[in-house]
Amino acid sequence: MSDNLTRRDFLLYGGATIAGVTLGELGRRTLAAADARAAAWPSRGVETWATTVCRECAGGCGVRVRLMDGVPVKLEGNPLCPVARGKLCAKGQAAIESYYDPDRLVGPARRTARSGQPAWTRLTSTEAIALAAERLRQAIATPAGIVVLAADERGPLADAWTRFWRAANARLAWTPMPTAARLGPRLEVLTGAQGDPVFDLERATYVLSFGAPIVEDWLSGVWTQRSFGRFRRGSGHARGRLVQIDSRRSATARKADEWLAATVEQQVILAYGVASVLLRENRVDRAKLEPLAGNFDAFERQVTTYYTPDNVASATGVPVVTILRLARELASASRPLVAVNADAPAALADAVFTLDALVGAFDRPGGVFAKTGDPVLDRADAVEALRDVAAGRLRPKVLVFGDSSPLRALDAPADASAIAANCDFVISLSPYLDESAAIADFLLPVDVAIESWQAMLPATAVAADLVAVTRPAVPRRLETQDRAALLQSLGTAIGGSVEAACDWRSSEDVVGAELKRLARAARGTPYATTYETNWVRQLESGGWWASPADSEQEFVDRVLTVGGWIDPWFDPNQLTEALHAHGGLAFPIPESPPAVRDVAASPATSEEVALAADVVPAPVEPPRFPLKLFAFTPATVNPAGNLNQPALFELLGQPEGKPWRLWVELNPETAAQQDIANGAAVRITSAHASIDAVAVHVTGLPPETAALSFVPGGPTDGRWARLVGPDVRQLWGEDPASRPCAVRIARS
Ligand code: SF4
Repeated sequence: MSDNLTRRDFLLYGGATIAGVTLGELGRRTLAAADARAAAWPSRGVETWATTVCRECAGGCGVRVRLMDGVPVKLEGNPLCPVARGKLCAKGQAAIESYYDPDRLVGPARRTARSGQPAWTRLTSTEAIALAAERLRQAIATPAGIVVLAADERGPLADAWTRFWRAANARLAWTPMPTAARLGPRLEVLTGAQGDPVFDLERATYVLSFGAPIVEDWLSGVWTQRSFGRFRRGSGHARGRLVQIDSRRSATARKADEWLAATVEQQVILAYGVASVLLRENRVDRAKLEPLAGNFDAFERQVTTYYTPDNVASATGVPVVTILRLARELASASRPLVAVNADAPAALADAVFTLDALVGAFDRPGGVFAKTGDPVLDRADAVEALRDVAAGRLRPKVLVFGDSSPLRALDAPADASAIAANCDFVISLSPYLDESAAIADFLLPVDVAIESWQAMLPATAVAADLVAVTRPAVPRRLETQDRAALLQSLGTAIGGSVEAACDWRSSEDVVGAELKRLARAARGTPYATTYETNWVRQLESGGWWASPADSEQEFVDRVLTVGGWIDPWFDPNQLTEALHAHGGLAFPIPESPPAVRDVAASPATSEEVALAADVVPAPVEPPRFPLKLFAFTPATVNPAGNLNQPALFELLGQPEGKPWRLWVELNPETAAQQDIANGAAVRITSAHASIDAVAVHVTGLPPETAALSFVPGGPTDGRWARLVGPDVRQLWGEDPASRPCAVRIARS
């Protein structure tokens, strides 16, 4: 809170809101006035800049905050950040709205009644720590008495979080983020390499993408978009060609040279179909495949026997000539790359890595590398844990949400009230009145990103070691808390091994320890220009490792000023080395034969039905729910931080959908059968629920399918999120929304 904000002001904005715990409308105006007084405006504004890290996704892009008279007014990219090089995506640009969000929580609070209208009592920090510590102390002795859920992240502050909760005997689980780390376990099973894959998109000449949202937010959004720009321009080669195989016409599909519609299951079959053609036509370099041999013979036999172009065409609807052409294009490209979405199921990730191996993309410019060194974390899945709680299989005494990410997953339970019903006490550390706060008994809001110390490992994108490290860009504005300091206070109140686990007083201590570690490593450099970074790489490649600063203090100051540290040296042979140690590639043996495409749900004429059954035509009852609906999360949705951002809702569904609305994509012929015009309001009905959306015609979408946008948090998040629409997961009932759901769609 601003120093100049009087106690009377505070009581006014704290007590004038409906629930008494957010800034609210009146509170926002009052606080704005207080901030204005605090700034004591001089006649001419003084512009300053501070460095921070974007935390709207796991990309870790460096940010510069523009301040006028100490008030943050704009976020820009940090040109020295090797991930983003001065750019930010829409989510990064909009993140300033999180700082000023009127639905930010003003401080700790306790729910006074679990049912009915939410009612809250504000608490002081001391009261809040004592109450939370008491609950946690009571739960520690019970197995799985404490369950802790948060977004998956890496770095010293995330490690401190893990140490604390492990000492508290908690069951920890993390929401998987759509980063390369999610593909790491599959890469390890196939190759033995313990690390994340690095896709060298920039230097590829031909990309066959299986659902990878390359122009949206693939692996590390800004890095990917920068790489895509170079791939298209051609750095030392002709403009790169992109073929997108996707279940819907995503932004990437629109930008691609070619889009093939295929469900995720069909994508696996298609990948093996392409592999089969490569092998049958001997379009693989068998000499280069030798070191990868592993169980190659068994794989080749299986794939060429069952995944013939005819079988694959029947199973996917993709014509034989297209399958043949894709394989031939891939084989004839100088630097082909096969890419895959981070949240692809294991079967698809395996098939894609196998194709990369067949076209010689491992450890090759424009191909796939492995970045080992960062821990490959076998982490329990927070969404699964949440489903266990909702179903009563897990009944913790205390459920702690580090953020709302597990509640935003497509396969999370749609009915959050079942989660609260199976826990004695729910604590949310989210700074916002969002999904976790909606079911919490107790709010312990922490600082937002630009108020925080940061030390995190950005999602793997750049082939180098790097740590994003910054101090707070702006002072704390409300009665929120530093997350590590909050843990330390809880540890002190709990005592014993939990207190002993906290070898820090605040995040500043954790960041300080990390900076000392980096200084002692005597390698790499604080974030620097591309030229300087390349120069360090050249030196290190030649065996010249030098400390980047004359003293530890100088190093610390430089890293905190520029926003991070990078060691650009990278061993490009890590996959090859791992394969030698692993005894070759463990080729996946795909199922046999591929299932024939399920057209049962397609609208069929009575003549077709009769022909198939060889019987006299009979009247056919139209199916009650003739369409297969699958949901997708638009790229502008924030998976872990603040959803309540009007700038992002303004971008929702562009260019074809309508801002601030959910939309459903339909094949124009399917829409015509129901007399649904492009842009018409429609009602989607499943066996469980009905919701309203806007129809968007998409040529090329399989006629039996429909794709529905999913914006989590609608009913429970802040005032703007509530305007967007209902939670579409209710259409799926108990079945996770990551699967197709049978629906009918009609004009509303
Ligand atoms: S890619 Fe992620 S980290 Fe980078 S600006 Fe966008 S949201 Fe922020």
